[in-house]
Amino acid sequence: MASVFDLIVIGAGPGGYVAAIRAAQLGMKVACVDAWRNAQGGPAPGGTCTNVGCIPSKALLQSSEHFEQAGHDFAAHGIGVEGLSIDVPTMQQRKALVVKQNNEGILYLFKKNKVTFFHGTATLTGGDADAGWQVNVSGGEAGQAIASRQIIIATGSVPRSLPGLEFDEQRVLSNDGALSIDAVPKTLGVIGAGVIGLEMGSVWRRLGAQVTLLEAMPDFLAAADAQVAKEALKQFTRQGLAIHLGARITATKVLKNGVSIDWTDAKGVAQTLKVDRLIVSVGRKPNTESLGAEAVGLKLDERGFIEVDGDCRTNLPGIWAVGDVVRGPMLAHKAEEEGVAVAERIAGQKPHVDFNTVPWVIYTSPEIAWVGQTEAQLKAAGRACKVGSFPFMANGRARALGDTTGFVKMLADAQTDEILGVHIIGPMASELIAEAAVAMEFKAASEDIARICHAHPTLSESLKEAALGVAGRTLNF
Ligand code: FAD
Repeated sequence: MASVFDLIVIGAGPGGYVAAIRAAQLGMKVACVDAWRNAQGGPAPGGTCTNVGCIPSKALLQSSEHFEQAGHDFAAHGIGVEGLSIDVPTMQQRKALVVKQNNEGILYLFKKNKVTFFHGTATLTGGDADAGWQVNVSGGEAGQAIASRQIIIATGSVPRSLPGLEFDEQRVLSNDGALSIDAVPKTLGVIGAGVIGLEMGSVWRRLGAQVTLLEAMPDFLAAADAQVAKEALKQFTRQGLAIHLGARITATKVLKNGVSIDWTDAKGVAQTLKVDRLIVSVGRKPNTESLGAEAVGLKLDERGFIEVDGDCRTNLPGIWAVGDVVRGPMLAHKAEEEGVAVAERIAGQKPHVDFNTVPWVIYTSPEIAWVGQTEAQLKAAGRACKVGSFPFMANGRARALGDTTGFVKMLADAQTDEILGVHIIGPMASELIAEAAVAMEFKAASEDIARICHAHPTLSESLKEAALGVAGRTLNF
């Protein structure tokens, strides 16, 4: 006899675990099933984000940034460092501890909110919205049968490999392997200069690897504002990342001690790259393998994503899907917003997710963050805009920090002055972008930001100055 719940959430990544907690807060009897195993085989809720994504990558970015700063920047502060070294196993142990703290935090939150957690793989085996959907949990909790009229699928995504170049996580690395390298490689290749490729490439370059990135697209960071992308390419190249755009891979060979990649450059000239390790970060694919989608008639689109409407409803009544496994940006906070919204919808509320104000962040140095439209997108849409920008070089706090790279750029409607996009490259861009998202969510005009008192000296004054710049009246530049 199956245990019956008001809601079963499949997957405990940022989309799933947050949905489960919100539904429990709303009074539902909730089960959440997650298959992820830690090194000891135990539960490790948090999904890709906690285990092999957002959290461990930021832990390694922090360690490697400390190392780089100690080597390059401390001297200007009068701090001498002798015999600087990096102990990669210790760095990895710290990363593992940060991940474990997050796993345990989610288990604690489940307990606190009375969410029943099942460790295992959930498969939809039948049923319908009236009688309840049947779910089998196998693996960790062998053969458990549970049922519910409402199901949220939040099974996330997995790394995409290149044909003929399977991940062995030793020489050919997915993001999992890229986060677990046990010694700094002399040479590191990265196929794909997107967010993950740039973050991982930065970690290992800072620690001493010679890093080469091969990107198929002719434009660097095509989704970002063109001015930001240009500045980013300049800075990353200056730091020593060798970035080749318009690169076409023609052949690859896994060697005893590395990987050899034949490729043609943007001019069509044949090249060969030999590296100790190769990270392949060419995107991720939706994870529906173990779900039993076919058995219940759950519709997937041509790329394998679960098909959903604007409210995350699938083609089956009572079954919803959120996060990386559905259309839209593969971002943890997008997954969370969808998860909460679906839980509230099930409870009869009318939530709304505004995709236009989902911020994008790249945690390199300098950081890159943006929200809303780029100048090119507005131009293509025929929407006239005014532009204000402000360089961190003219910001007192940035000078005190010793980090004056980059700028803030604000785009506002030419007629109404409504903020349509904010683009930041520079120190703490990941934190600064929140003000822009709030402003846009409240439909603020650039003049509103320009008239808000910002503490001095702070990096956030650059946002105010960019807003002043929209009206052609920056004070400090
Ligand atoms: P996931 O986090 O993938 O979780 C899905 C869970 O479902 C997993 O635990 C999986 O084991 C489980 N599961 C799958 N099938 C089943 C089943 N049948 N039964 C039971 N359980 C199942 N995003 C950001 O916003 N910021 C970042 O800084 C960032 N950095 C990243 C860095 C890297 C290296 C990577 C790879 C990704 C990064 N992301 C980042 C993306 C982010 O991790 C994802 O967008 C996010 O994890 C998606 O959440 P989700 O809940 O949809 O799925």
